[in-house]
Amino acid sequence: MHLGQSIVDKLAVNQPLLSVEFFPPKTEEGARQILKTAQAIQEIRPDFISITYGAGGSTRERTLEYGEILHDLFGFEVMPHLTCVGHSKDDIRQILRRIERRGFRNIMTLRGDAPKDNPEMTTGTDGLCHASDLVQFIREECPYFCLGVAGYPEKHPEAKSMEEDLQHLKFKVDQGASFITTQLFYNNDDYFKFVESCRNLGINVPIIPGILPVVSLKQVKRFCAMCGAKIPPMLEAYLEAAKDDEEAQEMIGVEWAHNQISELLGKGVPGVHLYILNRAQSTIDLVQSLKQGRLFPKAATIAAVTTQLA
Ligand SMILES: Cc1cc2nc3c(=O)[nH]c(=O)nc-3n(C[C@H](O)[C@H](O)[C@H](O)COP(=O)(O)OP(=O)(O)OC[C@H]3O[C@@H](n4cnc5c(N)ncnc54)[C@H](O)[C@@H]3O)c2cc1C
Repeated sequence: MHLGQSIVDKLAVNQPLLSVEFFPPKTEEGARQILKTAQAIQEIRPDFISITYGAGGSTRERTLEYGEILHDLFGFEVMPHLTCVGHSKDDIRQILRRIERRGFRNIMTLRGDAPKDNPEMTTGTDGLCHASDLVQFIREECPYFCLGVAGYPEKHPEAKSMEEDLQHLKFKVDQGASFITTQLFYNNDDYFKFVESCRNLGINVPIIPGILPVVSLKQVKRFCAMCGAKIPPMLEAYLEAAKDDEEAQEMIGVEWAHNQISELLGKGVPGVHLYILNRAQSTIDLVQSLKQGRLFPKAATIAAVTTQLA
């Protein structure tokens, strides 16, 4: 068995890491899109890519299939996501065997959400109720995997309080998770506060910020409503002012992400995880502008929108 490098080992020698997240396509057009995007993303050489796992195991086959394709065609180091909702321990064992056969070392380990067509299905079976149960199970079965877990700078929507959510996060880490990737956020202060609270609780693993460059006001409102993140009033005002111009909205999203990431990197984050929604161009523009240490070249458009607002 030959497994790739663990993210923890990567972090030990090469910070900050850049990773991008894909989702497995459902249609032929989606399949063409992911391959086109992956090819373009090669240009920015992410340290690894991750690939999501559909609610209730709905993309069970496709997550690994596309992980394999993206690895074989483009040479990416792949981290599959795995959720336990709807799965038994035997299901998980089989999936782990396949992940192992492919040589993938890292797994983003999650509880997941109920599938749309089965809202009652909120956990796995055999006691796999929370991500911490999945972490513990994988640790027992296959201790050589490096496990990441999700963290929520603005609290998971189901948690009664931030304190309770942080205790649950600590438990996930204590069960054997090696790093945390955060939910998307648009105000860096939320991330910094979250990291401070984690450290105060004794959560000492790397906490990688997750950034989703906004594509449109409509899209960001939808995502934020789902995951409980806030849209800063200034970002909303910029997007509102550009609401009839899709390209301008995307540029505002890239500029906002650029500024967020510049500050995060300046303050020494261990890496940045980009939620790219299988889209390439804005990600490439963003990363290239960050790598060259210059402002996003199309910032003039945002300046124009800001002037209109003033
Ligand atoms: C980086 C990242 C990647 C993601 N990838 C995917 C994906 O590929 N597929 C997908 O379907 N979804 C994905 N999600 C979304 C995620 O599945 C949802 O946010 C889900 O609602 C919670 O998953 P979790 O792993 O955080 O769950 P958990 O850690 O189990 O937490 C869920 C809720 O239960 C509470 N809780 C945790 N442990 C306990 C306990 N022991 N007792 C009582 N309450 C507890 C927590 O406070 C929280 O409110 C991702 C999210 C992030 C941030």
